[in-house]
Amino acid sequence: DWVNFVEFFQRIIDRFEMTISQNITFSRTFPKKEIYVEIDTDKLTQVLDNIISNALKYSPQGGEITFSVKEKNEFIEVSISDQGMGIPKDNLEKVFDRFYRVDKARSRQMGGTGLGLAIAKEMIEAHCGRIWATSIEGKGTTIYFTLPYDPSQEDDWS
Ligand code: ATP
Ligand code: MG
Repeated sequence: DWVNFVEFFQRIIDRFEMTISQNITFSRTFPKKEIYVEIDTDKLTQVLDNIISNALKYSPQGGEITFSVKEKNEFIEVSISDQGMGIPKDNLEKVFDRFYRVDKARSRQMGGTGLGLAIAKEMIEAHCGRIWATSIEGKGTTIYFTLPYDPSQEDDWS
């Protein structure tokens, strides 16, 4: 489907924001213009649901989750940042492997199967995008992904 990505993303974030019981704030930095991308909305919803649930799962009380969309040359870059415990440097790529979970003890207590990010990776790559993580232990984690975007097709929408 062709969708305005910002609108699509806002709706997903709103849904989470309405149901959070934790003391966590959301902040959003989005372009003002419409950004039309061709995506499988069910699959992208699943990707975002997992990344946002992870961010909530690992956020401390009083933490902030920051959402951003940036327009680059031939793609958009989406990021979701939290202020949680972080992911050790050596594990930053492994978290996208099936069933990989950073620390068995902490993960068991958090629940889940370790599949969420592996599925996200599969789906983003099926859209010809990239997904990766950056993190500072004890400070937080940012998950980034890209999606192809053609700024010139914008003209056809007016
Ligand atoms: P599932 O998503 O299947 O319910 P999961 O959340 O454990 O289980 P993934 O979403 O694939 O699995 O994440 C893999 C692992 O990466 C997690 O178990 C956790 O150790 C680590 N991780 C993912 N996101 C974060 C985050 N925002 N902060 C800290 N660690 C994270
Ligand atoms: Mg998960």
